[in-house]
Amino acid sequence: MKKSDTWSVEDAEKLYGVTRWGGGYFEIGPNGNLHVTPDVSNDKMRIDFNDVIAEIKEEGIQFPVVLRFHDILRSQVALLNETFIKTIEEANYQGNYRGVYPVKVNQMREVVEEIVDAGEKYNYGLEAGSKAELLTVLAYNTNHDSLTILNGYKDEEFIRLSLLARKLGRKVVVVIEKFSELLMLIKWSKKLDIEPIIGLRSKMTVKGRGKWEGSAGDRAKFGLTITEIINAARLLEAEGLGHCFKLLHFHIGSQLTDIRAVKDAINEGAMIYAELHHLGFKLDYVDVGGGLGIDYDGSKSTNDSSMNYNIEEYVADVVFGMKEVCDLEKVPHPTLVSESGRAITAHHSCVVAEIVGEIRSNSATMDTSYLADEHILVTNMRLLVTAIDNQENLQEIFNDASQYKEQAAAAFKLRVISLEELAKIETLYWQIMESLQAKMQSQKFVPEDMQELDFSLSSQYLCNFSVFQSAADTWAIDQVLPIVPLTRMNERPNVNCSLVDITCDSDGKIDQFVLGKGISNVLPMHKLNKGEEYHLGMFLTGAYQDVMGDMHNLFGRLNEVHIFSHDDDPLDFYIEEVVTGSSVDDVLTIMQYHPKAMAQSVKKLIDGQIAKGTIKPREGVKWTDFYEDCLKGYTYLKT
Ligand SMILES: *Cc1c(COP(=O)(O)O)cnc(C)c1O
Repeated sequence: MKKSDTWSVEDAEKLYGVTRWGGGYFEIGPNGNLHVTPDVSNDKMRIDFNDVIAEIKEEGIQFPVVLRFHDILRSQVALLNETFIKTIEEANYQGNYRGVYPVKVNQMREVVEEIVDAGEKYNYGLEAGSKAELLTVLAYNTNHDSLTILNGYKDEEFIRLSLLARKLGRKVVVVIEKFSELLMLIKWSKKLDIEPIIGLRSKMTVKGRGKWEGSAGDRAKFGLTITEIINAARLLEAEGLGHCFKLLHFHIGSQLTDIRAVKDAINEGAMIYAELHHLGFKLDYVDVGGGLGIDYDGSKSTNDSSMNYNIEEYVADVVFGMKEVCDLEKVPHPTLVSESGRAITAHHSCVVAEIVGEIRSNSATMDTSYLADEHILVTNMRLLVTAIDNQENLQEIFNDASQYKEQAAAAFKLRVISLEELAKIETLYWQIMESLQAKMQSQKFVPEDMQELDFSLSSQYLCNFSVFQSAADTWAIDQVLPIVPLTRMNERPNVNCSLVDITCDSDGKIDQFVLGKGISNVLPMHKLNKGEEYHLGMFLTGAYQDVMGDMHNLFGRLNEVHIFSHDDDPLDFYIEEVVTGSSVDDVLTIMQYHPKAMAQSVKKLIDGQIAKGTIKPREGVKWTDFYEDCLKGYTYLKT
């Protein structure tokens, strides 16, 4: 690797690959700060993250924060719907598109409201997968022309609520996941004399690849087998409800990485639809489920965190795939429903957190000068330091140094060397490793053992956030999320670091990073300047991550800042709303504590010390107030 002093934002783009995963929304600005264009239809619009950070500080909001760009949500809703409309026209497809947003992907009220509002003109609807979600969509999806799709396991209450929705004039489709649900639905429909709209979910043989491939196949948890579908349809017919069976549903998994799985599923689903038509069940809708992926690592590949297609190809495969089978089978084109969640919400939110310190295994050093009575291991290690410059075989030095270090550890346990000698050997060892790392830069071939050097010599940056609250999937399922510094990208990054969070859990770390050239276990960043803040952004957190976080170590929900762009000034933005994150008081209450009583008992203890004279009364009042203030405060580090 040739080192030159020039460094441009183009180099930074190559390194961080922002435009590869940015979905057209993010890019590195000419000033080296990250910029966002939240409304792609207005490409003059640019918001500088550094300005957003300044504004947040000015408002006195503490970091870490979640930033929500409502314009991005709107843009994604428009993109999905417009792509379907355009493709349907191009294909001369006879049915419509009636998409629904599955609220489980991000149930935040503000998110759901924005999506419903942006989707109004497309008759875009909502999908629910549980009773709580059903109660939500009942209240929020008030557009009578849009669909409400009900998936998930159902009880009697669920079924009755769905029938209430029919009475309210909604196009609510109850999707049967399990045969017994159908019997419940028939019973209540007769009892209340309300006709349901019924969908049947098919267990597919096509499996999606990737982390969610268990959503299809014989062992899938949801859906009816082909035999059950036919039996269900016949039962409905016998009960005089055959005409209520209107929708065929399938969902082969989330984050489909390979477009071939989509093609195969559409083909299989279309065949089932056509066969049902031949059997006399004339359905109006085919619901292709979710699965439209997000290219988290920007590699456009079938990696678990990527996808080998884009939204246009996905939509084309759905529309043309359905049309082809229907035309061959001479059946009408059904209205298409899809339940994309991840693709709608992933881009719109990100987490901004501050680096508050650096941890290095080799940061402490000590005087290593020669002492006449020192142990031979110390002498040998020192000789290696001087040998580096005229030694061709760097691996030999690496091997020797590693061996001496191991021997020193054993020798210390046997009391052969002193604690001070052990420390000297460590200091010399790290000195040798740093010289080797520097030398390796000019070598064409680097032996495998030594490739690890970059990682073992890298620092860990301590980041004021909790992986378990803000990036649950990186911990639980090794999801990679793009992380970049928000400023200084016009400077050459001069430290390679992994990240650790502020929980007391050794799993609270991130050591997989998206870089332009692939996944790396260190992220190139900048040396921290004294007195200067350094913020990182973690991106594409809007789907699942946002709502799945837990309160490990009692770190609670983040402060949320909702950002809107100004129509009249493309470079300006405003903070429309701040949703305050959890206070210590909030998280303790959830865990069944009584913060008021806690404050009282601490006050009593302080009063006791005042009575004994160990705390002065004036001081005691201050301590009492301080305890109460901290209870009301934010759960993260105050910087
Ligand atoms: C989770 C889920 C979705 C959403 O999937 P995405 O991959 O996020 O688009 C859609 N439909 C059903 C039935 C689901 O369970």
